[in-house]
Amino acid sequence: MEKKLYLSGAQLKAELSRCLQCKNKPCMNACPVNCNPQEFIGHAQKGEYQEAVESITRYNPMGQTCGLICPETFCMKACLRSNLDSPIRIPSVQAAILEKYRTKENYKKQEYPKLNGKKIAVIGAGPAGIAASSSLLKYGYEIDVYEGFDKIGGALNLIPESRLPHEVINKDWSFLADGNERIHLHLGISIQDPSSLFKKGFCGVIVATGESNFINLGIEGEEYSLAYPEYLRHHKRYILEGNAAIIGGGSVAADCAVTAKQDGYENVEMFVRRRISDMRVTNNDRQELLEHNIDITTMTRVVKISKQENGLLTLHTVKTRFNNGHLEDIPNTEIPRPDFRLIIKALGSTVTPKQDSNKIIFAGDCKNGGSTIVEALASGLDAAKRLHQQITQ
Ligand SMILES: Cc1cc2nc3c(=O)[nH]c(=O)nc-3n(C[C@H](O)[C@H](O)[C@H](O)COP(=O)(O)OP(=O)(O)OC[C@H]3O[C@@H](n4cnc5c(N)ncnc54)[C@H](O)[C@@H]3O)c2cc1C
Ligand code: SF4
Repeated sequence: MEKKLYLSGAQLKAELSRCLQCKNKPCMNACPVNCNPQEFIGHAQKGEYQEAVESITRYNPMGQTCGLICPETFCMKACLRSNLDSPIRIPSVQAAILEKYRTKENYKKQEYPKLNGKKIAVIGAGPAGIAASSSLLKYGYEIDVYEGFDKIGGALNLIPESRLPHEVINKDWSFLADGNERIHLHLGISIQDPSSLFKKGFCGVIVATGESNFINLGIEGEEYSLAYPEYLRHHKRYILEGNAAIIGGGSVAADCAVTAKQDGYENVEMFVRRRISDMRVTNNDRQELLEHNIDITTMTRVVKISKQENGLLTLHTVKTRFNNGHLEDIPNTEIPRPDFRLIIKALGSTVTPKQDSNKIIFAGDCKNGGSTIVEALASGLDAAKRLHQQITQ
């Protein structure tokens, strides 16, 4: 059964009516970009949907995308309604309001101050780069965004369409950029040396190039496994029958597992070193894993991958346990797990510390490591503010 991404009109009304309009706005304080659910829900309760749209987009240049994928660990976790029954589904309310009530015809365009005659370059058109651009426009700069890939959105393009239709990323972007002569997008252009842009007349650079140091397994036979960015970006190339293994236990691993199942693998199994309660997944991820009948093998470490004579792959595993809080292999527990057609490694990434220099500011996951869309947006907004301070001081 196809899952409904947006609340229906009746569900939206029901959620709106549950808001207690708390005076101290815990939801706003918990949102990394300080979006104000109490305010936009208040408007929507009175039928003031245009004001609700304006309230969301004032704080968040990717409000609809956030509404579909923000985890429940921010505004929803802070929602005091959970003391009575359950928190308001704030991200879903946000997505539904923008999907239903934001149109090109009625959208009130942002008014910017007079151009200040200065140009800024933004490297990377993921959430951090987009947020930085949106903020710099408000200071009166002209912006050139350089994106190495052939589309905007960065890592968001790896999220399965069933969770995030990629047209939503473009929809958010279009409200910022369409018809806006102050922002110029250059797709398919990689910038390796940010300081080279100063020669082109830019007075500052935001570097928002995302995470790139993907963690390897470091085991024999690693070459038989596929890294998650390659798999998620090109999963249609890997549609095979049989069994798929995913090594890793976070949200990205969950997306790989669900994608493999949706693409027709009969058995999809996740191999996780720790306990099920240690898995860094959201409630939505858990629900998706259950709905797609994904198997999860916990307290298990993959120590080797080998190729069988028939071309299938074997995972060699050992069981793990905690010893004084440290994870260790349990001796004599080797179990070979044969007959996989596909093995995907989804272990996350490490971050190399980045040092801002004069008028070159780093933002988003390239600075902080793998995070969430709303944290990357917040980092982009903050970088824009700091760059503006450096330029004007
Ligand atoms: C599979 C997956 C699922 C996820 N699910 C969720 C979720 O459900 N909820 C959530 O909140 N977050 C989720 N995230 C995390 C979220 O997508 C990231 O935190 C966010 O996209 C980071 O934004 P960013 O702008 O810092 O980097 P990115 O999104 O990685 O964007 C960086 C951009 O810079 C470009 N670039 C890199 N180098 C150069 C260069 N030299 N020159 C020009 N351009 C360059 C890249 O092509 C890319 O477009 C998920 C991530 C993945 C991978
Ligand atoms: S942007 Fe995300 S965290 Fe912030 S209020 Fe909206 S849904 Fe909640």
